[in-house]
Amino acid sequence: MDRITSFLTRRENEQLTRSLKPVTARANSRILCGRKEFIDFSSNDYLGLANHPRLKTAACDVIKKLGAGASASRLLSGDFTIHHDLEEKTARFKNKESALVFNSGYQANVGIISALCRPGDVVFSDRLNHASIIDGIKLSGAKLLRFDHNDSVHLAKLLARERARYQEALIITETVFSMDGDLAPLEEIVELKEKCNCRIMVDEAHATGVFGKDGGGVVEEKGLAEKIDLIMGTFSKALGSFGAYVACSEVMKDYLVNSCRSFIYSTALPPGVIAANLASLELVEQEPFRRHRLLENAQYFRDSLKQLGLPVGGESQIVPLLVGGNDLAVKLSRSLQERGHRVFPIRPPTVPPRQARVRFSLTYDHSKETLRRLVKDIEEISCF
Ligand SMILES: *Cc1c(COP(=O)(O)O)cnc(C)c1O
Repeated sequence: MDRITSFLTRRENEQLTRSLKPVTARANSRILCGRKEFIDFSSNDYLGLANHPRLKTAACDVIKKLGAGASASRLLSGDFTIHHDLEEKTARFKNKESALVFNSGYQANVGIISALCRPGDVVFSDRLNHASIIDGIKLSGAKLLRFDHNDSVHLAKLLARERARYQEALIITETVFSMDGDLAPLEEIVELKEKCNCRIMVDEAHATGVFGKDGGGVVEEKGLAEKIDLIMGTFSKALGSFGAYVACSEVMKDYLVNSCRSFIYSTALPPGVIAANLASLELVEQEPFRRHRLLENAQYFRDSLKQLGLPVGGESQIVPLLVGGNDLAVKLSRSLQERGHRVFPIRPPTVPPRQARVRFSLTYDHSKETLRRLVKDIEEISCF
């Protein structure tokens, strides 16, 4: 059997095959897949902004004026003033001196880390960090050292033992973890960073728009912006649009503009996308009730599952039900899908072995009543 077929057969035998499932329509938290309608618990549209009229109008207006595409890299003629407006607004939002926009979170992480680090350097990375972070480290050629998830004691030990053997060092963590929904112990990590002559970068993909008094993320909530060298995040999740950014110093931005290959060698984001991102930042500012209701509902959902004695995790809008076995995760999500809830099993290698789970992503559009029905269905299925 050739490599391709044997790969696919192996995946199938382990019940790990991935497949695409196109959506034909969506409104609020409801989606249509073929003829079946679901309530969607798998989207990252946390604040319910993806379909917001202000984002759509902003994008359409700018498309009519400037066109559908940017036509070139930012360093050629793809650099519109609207890109700079977004960068200024993002820098203020994140309480940093400046910001640089990227085409996606994946490109941001791969590009930034490989621009900052090189062979002879070391990166201390939380064991559960996103694939794009791992890929950036691999591409950089720096040594990857993983510390146990959210374990600053383990990080301290690694730093003490390993830091001196390398040239430059970078510590990287997500602030809200995508598969566990928990928060990094940022104060402790920052304290270690200051003692050990390292840079620190955080990924706020799931925190931006949701945490912090002004929706700026966990870094804002903990008042740590000044102490963190690079604050990366996306416009594609809570902000309901597309693209990513890093907020940092002016000097760091200049360095990235001159060295970051995923920034330099890729066509700029279309002006319409940039306009939607600007509208979305405004909404985060003007409508704090979205994030408040979201976190309140998440707490309600988590408490309800706990009352049923179920193994539930997280402390954010991401709620994992930690069932353990792959087959159990598949069975539970299949039963929930039959009852109209769009949820997916998350299995290795996305999560560690034997930690398969069903992951619920809550959004502003889920009402208490919707959540109550979901809890009731989980209780009735209770295959574990
Ligand atoms: C989604 C995600 C990314 C990638 O962002 P995209 O804009 O979807 O490419 C990066 N890091 C984390 C933690 C994410 O969850």
